[in-house]
Amino acid sequence: MYGIPEYRLPKKVVRKEIKKIENLGVTFLTNQAVGEDLTVDTLFDQGYDAVFIGSGTAIPKALDIPGSKLKGILQSSYFLRMASLYSTGNVERDEVPAREGEHIGIVGCGNVAMDAARTAIRMGAKKVTIISNETIDKMPANQFEYDFAVKEGANFLWQTDTREFISDESSEYVGGIRANTPEGEKIYKFDRILLAIGSRPANKIVSTTTGIDVDDTGYVIAKEKPYGMTTRKGVFAGGDVVHQPQTVVLAMKDAKLVASGIAQYVDAVKLLKD
Ligand SMILES: Cc1cc2nc3c(=O)[nH]c(=O)nc-3n(C[C@H](O)[C@H](O)[C@H](O)COP(=O)(O)OP(=O)(O)OC[C@H]3O[C@@H](n4cnc5c(N)ncnc54)[C@H](O)[C@@H]3O)c2cc1C
Repeated sequence: MYGIPEYRLPKKVVRKEIKKIENLGVTFLTNQAVGEDLTVDTLFDQGYDAVFIGSGTAIPKALDIPGSKLKGILQSSYFLRMASLYSTGNVERDEVPAREGEHIGIVGCGNVAMDAARTAIRMGAKKVTIISNETIDKMPANQFEYDFAVKEGANFLWQTDTREFISDESSEYVGGIRANTPEGEKIYKFDRILLAIGSRPANKIVSTTTGIDVDDTGYVIAKEKPYGMTTRKGVFAGGDVVHQPQTVVLAMKDAKLVASGIAQYVDAVKLLKD
């Protein structure tokens, strides 16, 4: 691998996995954004028989409700990124958007919310409250992620639907939320809000080539036969960019199925050429 800033170097276990994959004959081109530095068409021009898109869901969803432009409302993904950079010594503590002693509200109840809660607690938050509009049995987070968050001290508000971000005395900073709950409308005070309500795919790859159809929300449409092929011949997709944000295990399982779809396709094309 080359050209990776030190802070972006993967951890030891991941580095070992990458080495294993390299030894199988895979070349890694890093710092290459498909749609900017190269395109799907460039790859075919270079002689690749098939292209796999596994670009995940890079765009965090915003919550478009009154008060959403107040300062102090941030994406959890940004908070987690800055906390990670701080932990590797690449940014100063004050660049991590969470001060010691704050009461932080996290809207959303998936694995990202659990990670954000645990990280905020470790960064010195006085209290962290996860605000879920679901019941505990419907939360999208894995049970073990929830258990870890509880163990580290996260609090939960269930069936609490955030309707507005509010501020104190016309301050430009968020001071809490107004929410609908089973007991009626309630106000909860927070010093900062982190959003963790899901993410969606970026369209950089599909918008810079032709023939790859996506659904109304930007997810790539993939076929069952050959498994994972998009509406463009030879271009395959799998993982979150097809199936919506899921889990690492499901993305890996899907990738294996797509790999066999790609093998079938490449063999069939070769057979027709011979
Ligand atoms: C904060 C957080 C916590 C999570 N916690 C858990 C958890 O505890 N357990 C769990 O199972 N799952 C968890 N998930 C979900 C899990 O990470 C995903 O379901 C899984 O990683 C999806 O795999 P993927 O290969 O489809 O996409 P990703 O893992 O998202 O990989 C996509 C890759 O494509 C790259 N990419 C995107 N666009 C381009 C482009 N144009 N050019 C080049 N490269 C591009 C991205 O940089 C990224 O490296 C979490 C997700 C987040 C964000």
